[in-house]
Amino acid sequence: AKGDGRGCWRFFEPAMDADLRLQREFEFRLREALPRQEFEIHYQPIVDLGTYRPCTVEALVRWRHPELGLIPPDKFIPVAEETGLIIPLGEWILDAACHTGATWPDHVRLAVNLSAIQFRSGNLVDAVRGALARSGLPAARLELEITESVLLQKDHGTLAVLHELAGLGVHIVLDDFGTGYSSLSYLQLFPFSKIKIDKSFVADLSSRTDCAAIVSTVTNLAKALDMGTTAEGVETWEQVTLLRAVGCREAQGWLFGRPVPAVALCFEAAPFRAE
Ligand code: C2E
Ligand code: CA
Ligand code: CA
Ligand code: CA
Repeated sequence: AKGDGRGCWRFFEPAMDADLRLQREFEFRLREALPRQEFEIHYQPIVDLGTYRPCTVEALVRWRHPELGLIPPDKFIPVAEETGLIIPLGEWILDAACHTGATWPDHVRLAVNLSAIQFRSGNLVDAVRGALARSGLPAARLELEITESVLLQKDHGTLAVLHELAGLGVHIVLDDFGTGYSSLSYLQLFPFSKIKIDKSFVADLSSRTDCAAIVSTVTNLAKALDMGTTAEGVETWEQVTLLRAVGCREAQGWLFGRPVPAVALCFEAAPFRAE
């Protein structure tokens, strides 16, 4: 504001300029990344806690930057959303992931993350239908993961798109459950196939009884609503034991495997732990 002392402005301006220049440069490189084929998809198994075999594999995008190396999605997805790049990028991810998923055994599903912005693009349903048709992946083997941010746009358009997607035969999964606001009301909005319990609750599962209570309650609630649950961020066998005890049937985390390139996935190996 005026009169706050011009010294302050002189001090901050160059830094802000530099930040802005870096931001512009980043956006420019990100736009170029798609035609330059710098994006790659890594895949992480979601394990059935009854058989300890992968039942679903989640596609997680990365940016192979020529100088900065592998950039995680948290660093560029928000920028891609702001600039609209998420629309062509999201379509590329759907196509590439479905193409890969179609080569997996029949019982293994593919999970793809969708951004709220893709729901406003107007052609998400066509993009999904197209990716399925081109790849030959059956719709029933595709899970689309959305977060509460998609449902926050409480217009009828979003719900209509969700119903259209479900009409294709794909599964809709509610991701990062418990991290947003008024989560429970969202469960009534749409018939989700599955709820993914955010890793923040799983992390302290063995040390905090309140986290165990939350995971247990969400699992029971999901069951009552005829939905499944997947625990995210599972890193220890102790967590697996507790998850199984409360009836959670699927788990994803570094204990079972980090996200890896498609070639490194293995479906045929024996279960890690015999029952
Ligand atoms: P998310 O959908 O919740 O994905 C799970 C994240 O948890 C992934 O991070 C995964 O690598 C990480 N993770 C898996 N197991 C463990 C574990 O045991 N411990 C810990 N600490 N972390 C674990 P990643 O790959 O960095 O992705 C971050 C987020 O970026 C995703 O969160 C998702 O919101 C977004 N994202 C990733 N790929 C896509 C995409 O293709 N499209 C869109 N729209 N968003 C994406
Ligand atoms: Ca996800
Ligand atoms: Ca998640
Ligand atoms: Ca997340």
